[in-house]
Amino acid sequence: MRLKISDIPEGGLTQELDLPVEVRDGAGPDTAHVLIKLFRFGKKVVAEGTVRITVSLNCSRCLKAVAYPVETKFSEEYNPAEALDKEEEQELTDRELDLGYYSNDELDISGLIREQVLLSVPMKPLCIADCQGICVKCGKDLNEGACGCKTEEVDPRLAPLSKFKELMKDRGAS
Ligand SMILES: [Zn+2]
Ligand SMILES: [Zn+2]
Repeated sequence: MRLKISDIPEGGLTQELDLPVEVRDGAGPDTAHVLIKLFRFGKKVVAEGTVRITVSLNCSRCLKAVAYPVETKFSEEYNPAEALDKEEEQELTDRELDLGYYSNDELDISGLIREQVLLSVPMKPLCIADCQGICVKCGKDLNEGACGCKTEEVDPRLAPLSKFKELMKDRGAS
């Protein structure tokens, strides 16, 4: 979705639109509802607004589908890429280029919206806060009850964590 900078009137431009956003490759897009206001200050463009979307994720422990609602506000500044000299331009990565610059009188807001959504999505989503995950041996969903597999000894790297958890429990009880 590209917007023409020269189309932005003196008092700013308000747009309400639905944009497909693909959070993970191949997962299929979710629809973002976007309210965006664009203002021009000379060559500089300020884009601000809100994004609402329900992202389809998978629980990082049991892989169940999780619908994760996101509502986020943004405010970004854009300058014309043409204002940079060639050397400066080469120092910028593509990512920075589509974040802070527009070129040829056009601003691609799809990149901006996707970035905002990605920033709001947890790295390790969970279906419920204390999801038990799936058994690594038999694949059973442990939220539905224990499986018959012999429980492994606690990974020594995780031992301090379970100790910590117990400590917190004790504190909660007293
Ligand atoms: Zn889960
Ligand atoms: Zn099992």
